[in-house]
Amino acid sequence: MSEAYVLDGKAIADGVIEEVASGTRALVARGVKPGLATVLVGADPASQVYVGAKGKAAESCGFYSVQHTLPANTGEAELLALVASLNADPAVHGILVQLPLPGHVNAPRVLESIDPRKDVDGFHPVNVGLLSIGEMGRALIPCTPAGAMIMIDKACEALGATLAGKEAVIIGRSNIVGKPMAQLMLSRNCTVTIAHSRTRDLPEVAQRADILVAAVGQPEMVRGSWVKPGAIVIDVGINRVPGEGLDDAGKPKTRLVGDVAYAEAARVAGAVTPVPGGVGRMTIAMLMANTLEAAKRAAGA
Ligand code: NAD
Repeated sequence: MSEAYVLDGKAIADGVIEEVASGTRALVARGVKPGLATVLVGADPASQVYVGAKGKAAESCGFYSVQHTLPANTGEAELLALVASLNADPAVHGILVQLPLPGHVNAPRVLESIDPRKDVDGFHPVNVGLLSIGEMGRALIPCTPAGAMIMIDKACEALGATLAGKEAVIIGRSNIVGKPMAQLMLSRNCTVTIAHSRTRDLPEVAQRADILVAAVGQPEMVRGSWVKPGAIVIDVGINRVPGEGLDDAGKPKTRLVGDVAYAEAARVAGAVTPVPGGVGRMTIAMLMANTLEAAKRAAGA
């Protein structure tokens, strides 16, 4: 059997960024510059990297971009006041509060204080509700599943497949990936199964899937034998595992793997996403797409 079509996350994400940049130029020509505000509390190194990458992407799209960096001991009231001022700022169309927040802050309360029209992460209950009633034109959709959906569309294009009526199995039921992914597949007329840690006979459930999405956080859990021949396999997982040898600083090397045993799956699937270089590349691109969308809606464009 031939190897699966490999979905190139970098190329697809670059394409999204180009489209956003061109949409931004058109909006700027009408006098509106999309604005993205990021809020980082504390000095978590991974969060600093993410927020920095988001700011850079915003600038490369031609947005107005502002980062608020607050000390780890910032109180909830101060954070709520900052969000309120960003809600009221007409130059800001997207607000992103980087998670995790320090333990003394009630994270849901802060996220729910974001104006849903500026909630470019798509985590506000209003956006969750709009997605679940199929109001895609008004919802802001969580970035990782939105990016995975674009990759599924690219796979369908490459394989000459259509989605309506297909069996989709999503492994994972988190609010940020699994559940919104299932809603998106449902909106595209797939027959959707959400599997999770209590699902019985998981390999058998997975084998039903024409589209299999793994968002679990378990290194290489999905084996090649779980994959239906010709299926589209989307690996959302990002897991750091021990690598071979030592790095320059003399520390044991690590490497990233997905939730899918890639080499095995690639021998069976019709299309597959690698890790790294797959879905992970799409998240920031979709954050930019959401910010442009929020700015367009605010401008009535
Ligand atoms: P989560 O921990 O919130 O949810 C994991 C889900 O997997 C749960 O619903 C749980 O029921 C299910 N699960 C756990 N163990 C299982 C098992 N043995 N069998 C079946 N189901 C099981 O995780 P999440 O935030 O949804 O993230 C999932 C993965 O995706 C992680 O590896 C994360 O790093 C990655 N992720 C990547 C991106 C990105 O690409 N930018 C974004 C978010 C998450």
